[in-house]
Parts: sequence; C-alpha cells; structure tokens
Amino acid sequence: MNNAQFYFDRPANEPIHPYTEGTPERLELEKELERQSLMEVEIPLIIGGKEIRTAKTGKVVMPHKHGHVLATYHMAGEKEVLMAIEAALEAHKQWQEMSWVERASINLKIGELIANKYRHVLNAATMLGQGKNVFQSEIDAVCETIDFIRFNAHYVSEIYNDQPHSEVGNLNRLEYRPLEGFVFAVSPFNFTSIASNLVLSPVLMGNTVVWKPATTALLSNYYLMKIYKEAGVPDGVINFVPGPGSTIGEVAMNHKDLAGIHFTGSNATFNHLWKTVANNLENYRSYPRVVGETGGKDFVFVHPSADVDEVATALVRGAFEYQGQKCSAASRAYIPESLWDSIKRRIDRNLKLIQKGDPTEFCNFVNAVIDEKAFKRITGYIDKARNSKDAEILFGGKSDMSQGYFIDPTVILAHDPRFVTMEEEIFGPVLSIHVYPDDKFAETLQLCDTTSPYGLTGSIFSKDRYATVQALSTLRYAAGNFYINDKPTGAVVGQQPFGGSRQSGTNDKAGSHLNLLRWLSPRTIKETFLPPTDFRYPHMHEKKCGC
Ligand code: NAD
Repeated sequence: MNNAQFYFDRPANEPIHPYTEGTPERLELEKELERQSLMEVEIPLIIGGKEIRTAKTGKVVMPHKHGHVLATYHMAGEKEVLMAIEAALEAHKQWQEMSWVERASINLKIGELIANKYRHVLNAATMLGQGKNVFQSEIDAVCETIDFIRFNAHYVSEIYNDQPHSEVGNLNRLEYRPLEGFVFAVSPFNFTSIASNLVLSPVLMGNTVVWKPATTALLSNYYLMKIYKEAGVPDGVINFVPGPGSTIGEVAMNHKDLAGIHFTGSNATFNHLWKTVANNLENYRSYPRVVGETGGKDFVFVHPSADVDEVATALVRGAFEYQGQKCSAASRAYIPESLWDSIKRRIDRNLKLIQKGDPTEFCNFVNAVIDEKAFKRITGYIDKARNSKDAEILFGGKSDMSQGYFIDPTVILAHDPRFVTMEEEIFGPVLSIHVYPDDKFAETLQLCDTTSPYGLTGSIFSKDRYATVQALSTLRYAAGNFYINDKPTGAVVGQQPFGGSRQSGTNDKAGSHLNLLRWLSPRTIKETFLPPTDFRYPHMHEKKCGC
C-alpha cells in the first residue's frame, strides 16, 4: 500500500485548437467526419461491462440531414435498468475501497485519451450527432470535458486534505465516504462535456453510476463510454442505459438504493424527478442527494454608457452560437432608446454575414436545431410573435425542416416587456429585445429581475461603474453567473464555476469543489487515547459530599 500523500496541482485549461484551413488537425478532423458519416454505429447498453442488445431499437440521425442515420441504439427496459442498478451496487464494494489517487489517475487518463487519441472522434460525433460547428464542439466535447476531469482531480486533493482539529489526548478524522447506494446520472443533449461530468464527478468520489444519456447525444456519449473502458474504469462502475427517460427513470427513482441524482436538463423533467423522490422518502435507505441544473432565460442588460459594437457582438454570439441551445444563451436584452438604432444596425450587419448550414462546412456559424420537437417548439414561439400586437419580428423568422431542422437567427422586438418570449425559455436561435427609456434604468433593472422565473446567467454592458454596481445589486439573484461587459455564455471550468438558482437549479456549481462535495457522505471518527475511568466530573469531588 502506497501511503504517500498526493496532491494534484491546479491544471491549465486545455488549449482550443483553431482548425483553420490546411492545418494538420483540420485535415484529420475532416477525415474522421467522413469516416463517421459513412458508417452506421450499433449502440448497445453497457451493464457491468457487458454489451447488451435488446429487441427494441431506435435511430440517431444528423440534425442537419435527418434522413441520414448515424446509429441504431438499443433501448433499456425495466429488466435492464434493474440489472444496471445491481451492477452498480456490486461494483460499489470495490470501487469505494480503491484509493482516490487510483480513481483520479483513471480520470486523468480519460482526459489524455480525449486530448490526443480521441479528440477528432469526439468532435466529429458531436458535430454530426448534436449539430455543432467545429468551434462549439471543440470548446465543449474536448476542452470542457478535459477541464472538468483535470480540475476535479485538483479539487479532490484539496477536499481530502481538509481535516478537523484535534485537541491533545484525542484524534479527530473525517473519512470522505461516497454515498451509500447508486447515483442516477441523467444527461442533456446539448453538451458532451456535461454528460461526461455528470457521470465522472460522482465516480471520482467513489460512487458508482447508472447513466441515462439523452437519445440525441448518443453517438458522442457512446464514444465516451468506450473511452472510459479503455482508460480502465472497472466494469459496473458506470452503467450505460439509453432508452426512454420515463421507463428508465421510473425504475431508478423508485429503487431503495437510490443515493443521488445528478441531472442537467429541462425544468419539467427535473421537477418530475424531485417529486418522485419526495413521494418515496420513506422507501429509500438514505435521503437521496438531488443535484440538478435546469433552464435559463438569460439576459443582456445595456446601460446608455455601453459600447455599441461590444453589445452587438455579444448579442449575436450569445444568442445564436449553437443555435441558442445553451442554457446560458442570451435570449432577452434590455437596450436604452439612445443606443437602439446603432445597435440594431450592427445586429443587422452581423446577421447578414452569418452563414447557416451543415456543420461539416466550416464557414457555417449556425447549424440545425436538435430535432423535430425542438423545431416545432421554437417556431411556435416565433409564430406567437408574428401573430401578436405586443411584439414584432425584426430579423429572421424563417424556418425549414425539409432536410434538416433549420431556423434563421431571429430577433423579436418586444413592445410589452413581459411578452411571452421575454419570459419563457425557448432554447433556440431567438433573441427578444425590449427598448427602454434611458431615464428608466433603475425601473428596468427591476423589470429584468422579476420578468422570468430563472436565475442562471446575465450580463451588464456599461462603462459607468455606478451603473454596473447598481445592476450587480438589483440583479443579485437574477443570475448565478453574472458577466460585466461580456456575453452571458462560455463559462470556463476553473474560472467561472457554473450554475444558477431560482428555477435554474440547485446551483451546485459544476466545475468546482462545491459539486464534488455533494457526492460525499463524510464520517467523523474521534479516537480518545486515554478514556476516563470515573463517571463523575471534577466539580462533584467535594469534601462535604464525602467524595
Ligand atoms: P430534457 O429534460 O428533455 O432531457 C434531459 C434528460 O432527461 C434526457 O436524457 C432525457 O431523456 C431525460 N428524461 C426525460 N424524462 C425523464 C424521466 N421521466 N426520467 C428520467 N429521465 C428523463 O432536457 P434536454 O432537452 O436534453 O436539455 C435542454 C434543457 O437542459 C434546457 O432546459 C437547458 O436550459 C437545460 N440545460 C441546463 C444546463 C445548466 O447547467 N443549467 C446546462 C445544459 C442544459
């Protein structure tokens, strides 16, 4: 047994490759995109290290060309979910006993495999399967996935090093046990890195996981699973169960050994999961940890002192990158009348330069939205603006799903600041703008704070420090990630820990030690070296009592 103390230093963030024309990495990625486009992968369940094929299958298609099938996947039913839970519980026995340094080493190896051998594989699968352009894929599937892994190894060193004080005569220790039972990780379609982190952070802390991936992200998520195996994650530590959320959730959530839920996705799903936990409290062995990051209605607030070029760039990038399918996407903006004409002209100019289409054509800034359900939801909101007197469509508004799920970047001018597209999460390339009188800055900050139920991200553009401070104060709970003179997207692990409160989730800050703490159940151990042998306390020793 190696009893040396280990400490993983604070890492640097993984550098972003630019993939400019003619570079070796661009050529290799293009080859991989072609290879994956020409094949149809079969995705099994992976339970206890074994591949399982069920009679029920579904298809994974390209969002930009939905006739093109990338993969056939096998769906888990009740029986397979129970098998996955059993496998996780069995693996828990050995995994929790394994030294955390060994667990961290396996994680770091996963990071190295992604940074090198599988960089292009993960990027190609994310571009083709989740409809990301190369930059969006690189910062997500590669860089953020690696950053989560490397930074968590550093944070865990600090957590395990934190021990309580001991007085002379006794020794106090904290033993950082993993949770007792299995963790149910449920991941969204929009970030490969989030899918990876939802699974790997509990695993790093000694837990074992039943992982329900999003169907539309299955291609990249299956490659992740293969990388975990190659890196040495033992069988049963991560059990991969694709299939219908309701079936899988029903079995996992009602199991007595459910120790925690690590979720990112919509409010509707998270509320359902939490209510199921609440209804089952008497049946569980322990109170399950419920960690969930959900929706957003993220804002850009512009003060009259702001720079108009900076604002227009932030709006276009913040609202339309990855087709607005980021929980942090800028989806509403408050702009003072005095700047509106200049900002509108610049948005118009920028939008005319945006190219839209297939992510394998590298000039495209905007690609397709994820699936038909999303397409219909987003165009439904655009139709509401089209048919309302309280709003007008300024730019975009067109859509076409004949080959792929394409929606033009759309800007809505909301005459009513509480128009539905200013309030509800749309999760698509739609930005709603309200123009306010310059002398109503304070009132409009209040309006921004109270318009939507979410509290995820937001930003203030201002060159006036008093105004910035006022915005920080009024909007204190309106955003868990607040930006000054920057777009509200693009949080970096180790730099801007991510998460919001109100209806945006439990704010457990993925990419920080705070999230890792949720996957621990510490045991305090006190040892007394010379235990007392007389039950009486010193003040009882009085002559008159005869003792
Ligand atoms: P979703 O809720 O539709 O799906 C998320 C996952 O839950 C999927 O794997 C889905 O299959 C599963 N699921 C659905 N019903 C289930 C059930 N009854 N039991 C168990 N699992 C079930 O969300 P999505 O469309 O994949 O993701 C988009 C949402 O995620 C947006 O609302 C976005 O804001 C949010 N999001 C939030 C963050 C954040 O950090 N706050 C990050 C990314 C995405």
